[in-house]
Amino acid sequence: MSCFQVAVLASGSKGNATVMRCESGMVLVDAGISCRRITQGMQRLGLRPENLDAVFITHEHIDHVQGLETFIKKYPVPVFASAGTWRGIKQTLPRIDLQRCDRHVFSPQTEITLGRLRVRSFSTSHDALEPTGYVFTCKNRSFAYVTDTGYVSDLVKRELDGAEVLVLETNHDPIVLRNGRYPPPLQKRILGTRGHLANETAGHLLATLQTLPRQVFLAHLSQENNTPDLALSTVRSIVQQQYPKATIQFYVTSQDEVVKNKEWEDYHEQNIFE
Ligand SMILES: [Zn+2]
Ligand SMILES: [Zn+2]
Repeated sequence: MSCFQVAVLASGSKGNATVMRCESGMVLVDAGISCRRITQGMQRLGLRPENLDAVFITHEHIDHVQGLETFIKKYPVPVFASAGTWRGIKQTLPRIDLQRCDRHVFSPQTEITLGRLRVRSFSTSHDALEPTGYVFTCKNRSFAYVTDTGYVSDLVKRELDGAEVLVLETNHDPIVLRNGRYPPPLQKRILGTRGHLANETAGHLLATLQTLPRQVFLAHLSQENNTPDLALSTVRSIVQQQYPKATIQFYVTSQDEVVKNKEWEDYHEQNIFE
């Protein structure tokens, strides 16, 4: 049994938002779908956005922040992002009223405590001002979130190693991308070190961890240059070469459907709105 209930409300280039709930708190990572969809998605899980302990933003691209403007008007929840991401948010959402926002600067490579939840921020490699991923630690178990990164540095690998549950980008298959209809400059951007993570890179990352996660959400899949089956089979076969007995539970996330781990099932039997 994992300590973390994770529900990816949406994932992909059209919008991203993930809810994580554990004994120590409840957080939202990214608000890249409408506030209405965030609210409805959470309500279907028996949760209320006003009960979130915090929102963490990875970077300012529209698919990660488009619901934020309305969200902060409706819910007085603290929002954390790097200084660069806050600057970027003002460019992406010029009308956002940050005076209304309980806004916190959270620098990469630092750690905060939120009640009993510890959160670390780390730098990712992406064409945004100061993009980050996050590791949430409850007691001594961790949930890590990393998407929108062109490659995975040793620093990031260390951050992810030992996480029990991982949301990990599997954006594209490089061959499908190269043979697809994206124009060369866009292909170059996606394949670059500040672009997006390929299926095989995600697989190799998992295969080089000292401790495998129990659950992995494959995230931010391109609808053009990937398929759920391709992402899953590529990652799984690379992991199995290194760890033939690996028993990772994989979840392939979706742009339109909520994908949640099995830890929600037990919760639903005893709880409506906490
Ligand atoms: Zn994105
Ligand atoms: Zn991005």
